[in-house]
This record gives sequence, C-alpha cells and structure tokens, in this order.
Amino acid sequence: MQSLLQEKVLVLNKYYQAIQITTVQKAICHLVKGTALVITTDWTTHSLEDWIKISRFYENGSHPIIRSPSISILIPDAIYLPYYESLPKTEVVFSRHNLFLRDKYTCQYCGKFLKNPKDRTIDHIIPKSRGGKTVWTNVVLCCKKCNLKKGDRTPEEAGLKLLKKPKPPKWQSLILEEFPKHKKEAWKVFLDFAGIMNSE
Ligand SMILES: [Zn+2]
Repeated sequence: MQSLLQEKVLVLNKYYQAIQITTVQKAICHLVKGTALVITTDWTTHSLEDWIKISRFYENGSHPIIRSPSISILIPDAIYLPYYESLPKTEVVFSRHNLFLRDKYTCQYCGKFLKNPKDRTIDHIIPKSRGGKTVWTNVVLCCKKCNLKKGDRTPEEAGLKLLKKPKPPKWQSLILEEFPKHKKEAWKVFLDFAGIMNSE
C-alpha cells in the first residue's frame, strides 16, 4: 500500500499541459478535495465518484488498486486540474537528482556515463573556495577521476574542457528524462499533446 501511494502520476493543467509529476497520495488528495479529475488516455475526465465506480470493474484484474477501509480505487495515470491555469514551471529547483538528470548521468568533462551513483560527484566550475556559487550555471556532474584532477582549480587551469556550458534546465525536458524511468506508456499521449516528446 505504502509503495503504491508513492507511484507517479502526471499532472495536467486547465490547458491539458503536463506541468509536473506527483505521487498517487497527493493526486488522491486533489481528487478528494475536488480540485482535480482523473483523466484517461482517451481524454475523458472522471470525478472521484465516477472513478470509484469504474474501479469496481477492475477489482479482480491486474491493475494496481489502492484499497483502504473507506476507498478502493484504481491508480490513475494522470490527473487534470480544471481550475489551474499556471503554465509549466520553467525554473527547476536545484538538487542533486535534478542535476544528474540535466547532465544525463554523464561526466561533463570526459563524457563518461556514470551508471554507479558512487562515481558521481558534483563539481563547482569556479571552486567554492574562490567564491563559486552552488547554482545551475556553476555546477556540473563530474566523475571522481576528473574531479580529482581538477581539484581547487578552474577548468582552464586544470587543462579540462566542459562538454557544454551548463544552463538551468527546463522542467519539460526533465519530464522527458523521467519518462523512460517511470515507464508510463499512458503519459505519452499527454506529453505528445503538449508537443514536448519531439522537442529538444
Ligand atoms: Zn570525467
């Protein structure tokens, strides 16, 4: 039950744009409050009441269902916020996880794909000791070897070259990066509509 509540659900705004990824738990809160509807890949929206009825047909199937004494519902792939007008966020919160996604798990100096989390380090292009800040434009994912070579120097001083100039990522490109990981085939429909499957 606990793990099902942490499953991912895509969130669409009033204009059917994918604006974020949330958890089943938060999606259910929205449904209970009436601020969201379940949306299925045929673009039909369902109130919580309807969705509970639909879920009954799947009781004995293979679809993941959340069961509690008061509620028993099929996990939705996506929810639709009919009153929410905000556009997708363009600024992404700085975090290790988001940095790895932006840099595609690749050392930004030697280009090595860092499959093992233990090999991933965060490099401050202008070292912290020289006033370099922890901001999108001054940090990159870096392998241990390159980080050691660079030490407390700038890339130029260490004879290293960045693969590309780091920029703040766009939320939509992060949804794209997350997409294969969550393997949500159903999301493809909604992301296609938003035109972001083909961009970048
Ligand atoms: Zn490297």
